[in-house]
Amino acid sequence: MTDPHHTTFRNLLSLIRAAEPRVDTDLVTLAYETARQAHAGQKRISGEDYIVHPLNVAIYLAQLHYIDTSTIIAGLLHDVIEDTSYTIETLRKDFGDEIADIVMGVTVLEKLKYRGVERYLENLRKMFVAMAKDLRVIFIKFADRIDNLKTLHVWPHDKQLRIAQETVEIYAPIANRLGMGKIRGELEDLAFPYIDPDAYTWTKNLLLSIAPKREKYLDDVKDIMKKTMEKEKIKPVDIHGRAKHLFSLYRKLLRYDKDISRIYDIITMRVIVKNLADCYATMGIIHQRWRPLKGRIKDYIANPKPNGYQSLHTTVFCEKGEILEFQIRTKKMHEEAEFGVAAHWQYKERGEDGGDSATAKIDLDWIRELTRWHKRIHENEEQLQKMKLDVFQNRIFIFTPNGEIIDLPEDATPIDFAYHIHTEVGNHCTSAMVNDRLVPLDTKLKSGDIVEIITDKKRKTPSSDWLQFVKTTTARAHIKNQVKVHIVDWLKNIVPGEDKETKLRR
Ligand code: MN
Repeated sequence: MTDPHHTTFRNLLSLIRAAEPRVDTDLVTLAYETARQAHAGQKRISGEDYIVHPLNVAIYLAQLHYIDTSTIIAGLLHDVIEDTSYTIETLRKDFGDEIADIVMGVTVLEKLKYRGVERYLENLRKMFVAMAKDLRVIFIKFADRIDNLKTLHVWPHDKQLRIAQETVEIYAPIANRLGMGKIRGELEDLAFPYIDPDAYTWTKNLLLSIAPKREKYLDDVKDIMKKTMEKEKIKPVDIHGRAKHLFSLYRKLLRYDKDISRIYDIITMRVIVKNLADCYATMGIIHQRWRPLKGRIKDYIANPKPNGYQSLHTTVFCEKGEILEFQIRTKKMHEEAEFGVAAHWQYKERGEDGGDSATAKIDLDWIRELTRWHKRIHENEEQLQKMKLDVFQNRIFIFTPNGEIIDLPEDATPIDFAYHIHTEVGNHCTSAMVNDRLVPLDTKLKSGDIVEIITDKKRKTPSSDWLQFVKTTTARAHIKNQVKVHIVDWLKNIVPGEDKETKLRR
């Protein structure tokens, strides 16, 4: 039987070969044949053969740089368990545990349905638990969702709305948290027309009305930049204009009373350079030529955004007095911002006792680990199992009562959670509720738990007993600190006049 989608599959293979030659294309071909046979005769609601969908998913995965043999194969097979007679046992036998586990992860998430706010937390929770097991499940869900959004017009209105809402409220925030700017923007912009068609059209027209004029202007600025940088012996890797994603533009407009003149980053100029030094030098060049607006210089390189985003931003009175925002970054920072390798590389490793100065970094550690792991998939397939143990099994995701996600090391307790929230919450903690039940403070938390800390301002110091069971260095450092302060106070009372600080240190 001839395969009408053979050309598409050939395209997928060449895409994979170009990006990642180590992928086992024979196994990928076998997976494609397996998926094709399993889905044989099935149609999408659009009338297309069903196999087009898993093929598209695999293509997105390749385009989004999520390329290892298992991810591509699991992408091709992601719907066979849910929708065909092909069983998980056969999958396990044919393709091994690793791929079978990823497909199972996707199948379980398939059952999540958006049912308004009350289900939101539950869904988010399941996503994070799945993610903690294997991040590749989420990559496939993102690719699956993008293809479903692109074909959403054939579905009835209520389904369109549900899928679109789920996308902006669950998928996009997770993509954002993982630093995957490109996916986040794409997910939101595909969902936007279904969420609010009028707002979508309005925003789109607004952008269309300013874009062409701006494009010509940016070309001129680009020429000036190139020449000036050349004079200063800096070679730009790339200079290009970039329009804000529609949904994020609309959200921002709402915050600014829809006053477009107050938003300076609708269309910005992006300058990609070779290294860190060139970033700052380029900023200097820009400021020498054009006067910067007050309060608009942002150094996200020294102070990255919580999701790891790094860039220098500055807004200047540019040519002809027009206001223009520049974004300056290295090629590596650029790729990390687009594809989610939102690591925070130049930070030194955390100190042994991780005091207050370390707290800002701790929050980023897990993303850095996730992305590091993601990079290493390409480097060494064998290392994969070990890496998964290191990175995922050892982290748990805990929820605050508001649905905020906190990641902690395995076996962390409510006390670790409390100190993660705030030092004062830790110091004044008296008891804890886990999933609405009062629990001992040394309870080991599990991924997906919702934890609420009960504090009492009258409680002066934490208990030194807590040191027996806390897992995080932050909690340990704070408890030690407080207990020490307490002893100093106590010494002051019983040994008047002595130099207690010295005595204590001896
Ligand atoms: Mn699917």
